[in-house]
Amino acid sequence: MSAARLINLYDLTREQLRLQLVRWELNPVHVARLWNYLYIELAASLDAMPELPPKLRARLAAETQLGVLPTALETASSDGFTHKYLLALHDTEKIETVLMRFTGRVTACVSSQVGCAMGCVFCATGQMGYTRHLSPGEIVAQAVHVARALRTARDPQRLRNIVLMGMGEPLHNYDAVMTAIDILRDETGLALGAERITLSTVGVVPGILRLATEKRPLHLAVSLHAATQAERAALVPAAKKWPLDELMAACRTYSETTGRRIFYEWTLIEGKNDSEAHARAVGELLRGLSAQVNLIPLNPTSGYAGAPTRSEAAKRFQKILAEEFQLPSTVRQRRGIDIAAGCGQLAVAEASSH
Ligand code: SAH
Ligand code: SF4
Repeated sequence: MSAARLINLYDLTREQLRLQLVRWELNPVHVARLWNYLYIELAASLDAMPELPPKLRARLAAETQLGVLPTALETASSDGFTHKYLLALHDTEKIETVLMRFTGRVTACVSSQVGCAMGCVFCATGQMGYTRHLSPGEIVAQAVHVARALRTARDPQRLRNIVLMGMGEPLHNYDAVMTAIDILRDETGLALGAERITLSTVGVVPGILRLATEKRPLHLAVSLHAATQAERAALVPAAKKWPLDELMAACRTYSETTGRRIFYEWTLIEGKNDSEAHARAVGELLRGLSAQVNLIPLNPTSGYAGAPTRSEAAKRFQKILAEEFQLPSTVRQRRGIDIAAGCGQLAVAEASSH
């Protein structure tokens, strides 16, 4: 059987794995031990799962693979808080996963696609274009990789949070992303609770409405970057397909149906979207919504000439949001920028070094 036809164990929810055992005419009770090996012991091969019944081992050896993703490149920021991994997929494509330590919490930033079709002008992944979707197992394997890296480093901390903010647009790969989230949340496995998973979208309106209908328990972040349709479309080409007014209507529906606050992301670009007028425009746009603004100073990329906002301008922006609009906001720390920890940037660095 070719590698592509083998079942990737990380693709399956616990229930799907149980059904697979039933299909193999094996006692489904063994799913507990197998699941434990996968997500508690973080076994990296079948050899590391000694206590499985021989018939189950034989099936696993013949018909499945463990989709462990080998590291093609690893870099650590000079302060040691950020580790960035370029992971190799079975078809030799590569994706990025980042381990971040913020105030004692460990967060994994995971990718949802190889490349991205949305083409945001300042984004390294957007500049690469779209190659393919990731499978649920390829998303889950990134979280397992980070959990295993913590264990190997004898770090007493557990993986606590997941952000879908790596390469790709998660709502463009909806079904695979949601299956991966179900696996990550499983309480007998990695047990990443609903409050621990944040999905960031460029603003795929049908996806946001579907999330609202399904009442998916996760945090939603929407990449705004501009408060008028014309300014946004110049930075985010996907805004032509899903205009700002439709996006804001979808966000309102999402917040009303789920009762959840949305995080709005704003990549601060000097002289482009960081003025006092811009701060007031976003304040007006979000008036009456349950919102928090995450300001991200631009990480420069080779394909875009913009520069990051200076910290005084970012502070002024925050002050206006807080004082004039009572809008909470954070400025993302630019930790790890020395290893190009911005979206898609490690893959570009690796490709250009060949
Ligand atoms: N596709 C999703 C999630 C991945 S990008 C989205 O766009 O939301 C995660 C965040 O990083 C987005 O808000 C994105 O706009 C931002 N981002 C991308 N490239 C960046 C760069 N060079 N500098 C700063 N932020 C960037
Ligand atoms: Fe894709 Fe997000 Fe990058 Fe835009 S910012 S190109 S949506 S990954």
